[in-house]
Amino acid sequence: MATQLKEKARPSRLWRPNRVLVTRAAREWRHARQIAERAAALDIPVIELASDRLGLDLPDDPRRAYAEAKATLAVTVASASKRKLQPIAPSADWRVDLAEGCPAHCNYCYLAGSLKGPPITRVYANLPEIFAELPNYVGRGTVTSRSSHRAHEGTTFEASCYTDPLGIEHLTGSLSSLIDHFGSWDAEVQLRFTSKFDAVEPLLGIQHRGRTRMRFSLNPPLFARFEGGTSPVAARLRAMRRMADAGYRVGVTVAPIIAAEGWQEAYGGLLAEVAEALDGAPDPDLTVELITHRFTAGSKAVLQSWYPGSALDMHPDGRAEKRTKFGSIKHVYDAATMKALRSWFEATIPATLPSARILYWT
Ligand code: SF4
Repeated sequence: MATQLKEKARPSRLWRPNRVLVTRAAREWRHARQIAERAAALDIPVIELASDRLGLDLPDDPRRAYAEAKATLAVTVASASKRKLQPIAPSADWRVDLAEGCPAHCNYCYLAGSLKGPPITRVYANLPEIFAELPNYVGRGTVTSRSSHRAHEGTTFEASCYTDPLGIEHLTGSLSSLIDHFGSWDAEVQLRFTSKFDAVEPLLGIQHRGRTRMRFSLNPPLFARFEGGTSPVAARLRAMRRMADAGYRVGVTVAPIIAAEGWQEAYGGLLAEVAEALDGAPDPDLTVELITHRFTAGSKAVLQSWYPGSALDMHPDGRAEKRTKFGSIKHVYDAATMKALRSWFEATIPATLPSARILYWT
């Protein structure tokens, strides 16, 4: 299995949007001007909008509209309401957003159910205002801070709820700024983010002071066909080792766990690859988060319109309904499948990654 992953390793391509839109309010911020300069240096057209309205002007054809939206980066300003933090169970006490949207094309993407409108990527220019909010939430954690086995992490802040912050970092630089901010923040806090990308180079030299945990969101190559536009799994594993060598706390987010034929062998191979990638690394304080595949009626409809030919199983057979805290229904695997998956992961992880801590199963 190890050989299989190594053979499939190939260099990752960095995302290159077709256009970068910058709103009038965003241009007041130095960060927006830096993003525009980076894009212009890559010969990406930068369009300065006359107002704060994003006139997207997308084609009527839904396929072309999707493609054009996915190829659009917009630099905007996070409003006061968006800068107000929300709890984000089970990952962290609070969610901090640097952006909304992601350029990748994962057939199961959870953003399809949480973000409305065309799937453009919006990044926020007003980082100083976003960072200024954070101290108000220290010591007020309602998720990990109240957990008996995670309270030692301090107040936790999750930066990958509505985006993959590493997938756009080469254009934004926002994640580096946030890691640097936490590194110089003398408080019991921890920044967390997860990614399906491998472009960690800009993060390696930051004075993070152990206050950031990066988790790599992984699935075995068997399911790579569902993760268009992301970095190859082997490249993510190499990046994980580089982050561990740079002193970061690292982790694995196995997400979403897919109970398709051959899953035991596929996930067994993946976990063995994680062990091999970290073999001999300085204590990476490895954690594992386990998230099973789920969808809502709304996210399913959006995903099926975006990826009509996908082989990803979203049939009601073998599924159970679960009510979310917002009152909507999500479809998770049925109890028997959940039990089989959970007992397998909870037995295999200690056997394969003996020093890893499982943070949660969902
Ligand atoms: Fe969605 Fe994550 Fe895939 Fe981006 S990388 S499309 S956020 S699942």
